[in-house]
Amino acid sequence: MSMTYLSRELESHFAGGHFRRLGGWVETPADLQPELEGDVSADVIVIGAGFAGLSTALELTALGATVVVLEQAFAGFGASGRNAGYLGGSIGIEFELFLKRVGKEKAQNIVRFYDEAVAYVEGRLRELGIDCDYNASGIIRAGIHPSQKKRLRKSMAVGHELGSPTEFLDQAQMRARGIPPAFLFGCLQRHGGTLDPGKYVMGLRRGALQAGVRLYENTTLESYSDGPTITCRTPRGRASAPIVVLATNAFTPQLGLLRDKVVPFRVSAVETEPLTPQQLASLGWAGREGLTTPHLVMESHRLTARNTLLMTTKRLGYAYGSKTPNIPDEVTYRALQDNLGVRFPMLRGVGIQACWSGYVSMAYDALPVVGETGSHHNILYTAGCSGHGVASQSLVGHLLAERIGGIEHPLLAALRHKTPKTLPEPLQWCAVNVALGGAHLLDEYTNRKVARPHA
Ligand SMILES: Cc1cc2nc3c(=O)[nH]c(=O)nc-3n(C[C@H](O)[C@H](O)[C@H](O)COP(=O)(O)OP(=O)(O)OC[C@H]3O[C@@H](n4cnc5c(N)ncnc54)[C@H](O)[C@@H]3O)c2cc1C
Repeated sequence: MSMTYLSRELESHFAGGHFRRLGGWVETPADLQPELEGDVSADVIVIGAGFAGLSTALELTALGATVVVLEQAFAGFGASGRNAGYLGGSIGIEFELFLKRVGKEKAQNIVRFYDEAVAYVEGRLRELGIDCDYNASGIIRAGIHPSQKKRLRKSMAVGHELGSPTEFLDQAQMRARGIPPAFLFGCLQRHGGTLDPGKYVMGLRRGALQAGVRLYENTTLESYSDGPTITCRTPRGRASAPIVVLATNAFTPQLGLLRDKVVPFRVSAVETEPLTPQQLASLGWAGREGLTTPHLVMESHRLTARNTLLMTTKRLGYAYGSKTPNIPDEVTYRALQDNLGVRFPMLRGVGIQACWSGYVSMAYDALPVVGETGSHHNILYTAGCSGHGVASQSLVGHLLAERIGGIEHPLLAALRHKTPKTLPEPLQWCAVNVALGGAHLLDEYTNRKVARPHA
């Protein structure tokens, strides 16, 4: 099964066939680590080498543990190598939902978890010497129509109540910063910014290998046992340890776990060709702040260090049975490309260089899903960080390593709560697609008001 991940070519007719099955930031590493063959053992086995798995492995190694990581393709193959690179704190999280679900005190700690995750990653970049073009510009959640202002303000007010530090930027402040004119007002969170997630995840991979983590790539976990020692079976080997961490995020339901807790959503991205100095100048946008929008399904727009413009999301996808097919999403790529001309009319006609999709996982309450399972509570899992995992899934690695080392960090305790149960199929497919369809209609209603302001 695993080789097919590395060799199958998928065709796309979008934008001259610019679909990239590995996302826009990473290639198969030149030093791809060997597939697991035979039997190995360690203090801890981590499944999945994204931000969560690699951070857990690195932190455990620092505590003196021996760690084996099993990865079905290569480190960074999942969402960690495909995202938009926003190192964001609590900006844009579902404050109102959190507050209703877990009450004020817990919600405050969850906000703290998201915000502290930014500083955690900034620290890791320094400690591990990872250069990933980090631009600590802050992030702006920017409205594109006056009708979005009320909702944005309300979300900010609840966020303030919960300790989320943001400030409102009016039209004049947005123009003074040189934010492109389609973005009328915004909510600024000063910490965080944008980075190259491919360089970040590959830096973690390098750090893990240097620290002595035994990474087996092209090695798919097929099944695992229960008991005081867990044995993980792969196509050609077995890895055993008293503790296993499943850091497989959106892929976890396919392992038979968290099927009733998280929903995998497909998120797509489109990247332009490098902009010319004239095109960059026409944008203004000197601070290159990462922009998101307060649509029900947000848009994100950012410049990269290679001077391309990257746009993501706008539409989410759900595949029946919580599957995660690595296939193009033509409809969303076209919607994102069309949106380029609307939000950035000065760039109309700029070519598309790449488009790709990846999977995040989300609980019905939009909260992180972290916990233990197994008869000996020795199978730990982390998922559900939705579209916010660059910072938060990295910090979760630290929290899980501490927990394995015997310390329950207060932020880990804050994340523990009862996750609502998801629906069985085919109800889930119907419910999710109805919800996504409704959100899309409402977002398009807002977009049409921008296109025809006097209609
Ligand atoms: C297009 C897109 C844009 C996004 N933008 C942002 C953003 O700007 N900011 C932000 O904070 N978040 C963003 N996200 C979300 C963020 O990328 C994720 O939350 C984060 O990367 C999750 O990290 P992870 O380590 O938990 O999971 P992943 O990175 O998905 O890692 C899971 C790993 O497990 C491996 N695996 C799965 N099953 C098995 C198995 N059976 N055996 C062995 N290995 C297995 C996978 O190959 C994968 O490498 C975005 C996501 C996408 C897709």
